[in-house]
Amino acid sequence: MRNPKLGVVSLGCPKNTTDTEVMLGLLKESGIDVTFDNDEADMCLVNTCSFIGDARKESVRTLVELADQGKELIIAGCLAQHFKEELLEEIPEARALVGTGDIHKIVDVIQAISRDSKLRVMEVSEIPNDYSDEVLPRMMTGVGASAYLKIAEGCDHACSFCIIPMLRGKFRSRSIESLTKEARILVKAGVREIILVSQDSTYYGLDLYNRLALPELLASLNEIEGLEWIRVMYAYPTEATVEILEAIRDLNKVVKYIDIPLQHSDPAILKAMARPLKPESVVERIRKTIPDVKIRSTFIVGFPGETEENFQHLMRFIETSRFDRLGVFGYSKQTEVPSGNMPGQVSQKEKNRRRAEVMKLQHGISSELNQAMVGKEIDVLIESFDEKKGIYIGRSQWDAPDIDNQVYVEDADDSFVDMGEIVRVRIDEAKPYDLFGTAVGSTFDRESSGSVRAGKALV
Ligand code: SF4
Repeated sequence: MRNPKLGVVSLGCPKNTTDTEVMLGLLKESGIDVTFDNDEADMCLVNTCSFIGDARKESVRTLVELADQGKELIIAGCLAQHFKEELLEEIPEARALVGTGDIHKIVDVIQAISRDSKLRVMEVSEIPNDYSDEVLPRMMTGVGASAYLKIAEGCDHACSFCIIPMLRGKFRSRSIESLTKEARILVKAGVREIILVSQDSTYYGLDLYNRLALPELLASLNEIEGLEWIRVMYAYPTEATVEILEAIRDLNKVVKYIDIPLQHSDPAILKAMARPLKPESVVERIRKTIPDVKIRSTFIVGFPGETEENFQHLMRFIETSRFDRLGVFGYSKQTEVPSGNMPGQVSQKEKNRRRAEVMKLQHGISSELNQAMVGKEIDVLIESFDEKKGIYIGRSQWDAPDIDNQVYVEDADDSFVDMGEIVRVRIDEAKPYDLFGTAVGSTFDRESSGSVRAGKALV
C-alpha cells in the first residue's frame, strides 16, 4: 500500500479552519505525506463550506477545478454533510466524504482508500453529533501569533435563514479543562492571541454545566502566562448577559470587543427571522457595562418580506447605534430552511441596492470613528511586513483577523517591532477602514516569546 501525497484546501469560516488544522495534525501524526502545494498532490482534502449560496458555489468550483487537474478528492465539512449522495454521484473523482462530526476518522478513511483503489468511502454521521472533547493534535496553517480555539460545535437556535443547526447539529460545549489545556499548548508554541469561536459563544456551557459558563472559561484562560489577548467571537443577543459582559470587562486579557450579529432591527423582520427582538437594549447594555468597548455587528438586508419601511428602520438603527465595525450581507435564499419558502422574496438588484446603502452609511461612521483615533497610542499585534512599502501590518485589540481594520506601522530603525509581538503605536493618520501609525515602544516581554510558523505542528 502506498499512501498518497495529500494536498489540502480549507474553505469557509474560522471554525472550519480549526477542523482542517485538527485533520492536518492527525494526518501528520500518522505519517501521511501532506503538501501545501496542490500541484504536487495525488489527492486533495477539501474542507468545504455550505453556509450560504456563494460559499456553496465556491466549494463546488474548487472541487471541479481540482478534479479537472486530475486530483482524487476527499470532501469534508458542511457540503459533504449536506449533499453526500449528490457529491458521490456527480463527482467521480470523489473518493471519500467526511461529515462535520467525523473529522477524527480522516486517517482511517485515507488508509482505506489507499489500500483499495476502487473503494469509495462515506463517513457522514446522520446526526453530526460526534465532536470529540479531547485535545486532538493540531497543525497551524495561519501566521502564528493568533490562533482560533473552537469552544463548541453546533447550535440550539433556529434562526429561520440558517442551515447551520442542520449541518452541525445541537450545541455541544468542550470542557473548560480541555480548552485550557489546548490554549496552553498554543501559547507555549508562541501564540499571543486566542480567539474563541463557535456558532454561539455566549451559549457556552449550558449543555455541559447547565449554566452559561463563558465567564468561568474566560477566567481560566486569563490565567495562562504568556497569553496576551483573548477574543470572543459570535455573541447571541439574549445571552450577552451582564455577568458575561462583566467578565469581559474585568478580565485583563480579554479584549474589550464584542462581536454580536444582530441581523436586523425591525421587529417584524426579527420575528420572521426567529431572532430576539429589541437589539437597541442589547447595545445599550453592552455600552453601559463595558464603557471602552468597541462593538462589531452584522446585518442581513433583503430578507423575505423586507419592505422599504423595514429597511429604513434598520438604516436608522445603524445610524444611531454607530457600530465600530459592521458587516452587511444580502439575504441568501436556501430552500432547505424556512425563510427560503417565505413569500415576498426580494430581487437581487434590490438586495444589492440596500447593501450598498448600508455600506455607504457605515463608511461615514467608520471614517469619523477612526479619525478620532488620530494622536492616540494603542497596542498593535504585528502580523506581517509589506516588503514593497517597507511597513509592518497588524491589528489592535478592537480588530478581529480578516474582517476588521488593519493598522500599518512604521518602525524606521527597527527599534520596537518584532513579528508576532505586540507593540505600542501612535496613530498618525486614519482612513475609513485602516489606521496608520509609528511604533513608539514595545509592550511585550520578549524573553518568554516563542514563535509559530505556518505549518508547524503543535501537539
Ligand atoms: S444562532 Fe447563528 S448558527 Fe444558530 S441558527 Fe441562528 S444564525 Fe444559525
